[in-house]
Amino acid sequence: MNARTSFDRPAPLCYHEGEVNRCPQCGNKGWHVGRVTAECSHCSHPLPLAQSVISGAPAEQGEG
Ligand SMILES: [Zn+2]
Repeated sequence: MNARTSFDRPAPLCYHEGEVNRCPQCGNKGWHVGRVTAECSHCSHPLPLAQSVISGAPAEQGEG
């Protein structure tokens, strides 16, 4: 029962598109998804989008 127990249930610190994301503040599951962050529709708590964290750079290769 040390800090290692946290590995059992990783907190959703990022917004994962296509998955159920619960607000760490109020537990709401509705979000206003923006370009780099998602805001809780209930308490406006912001979460970074997982995909933007992973890629690290905007994938805007001029297509059009
Ligand atoms: Zn919330």
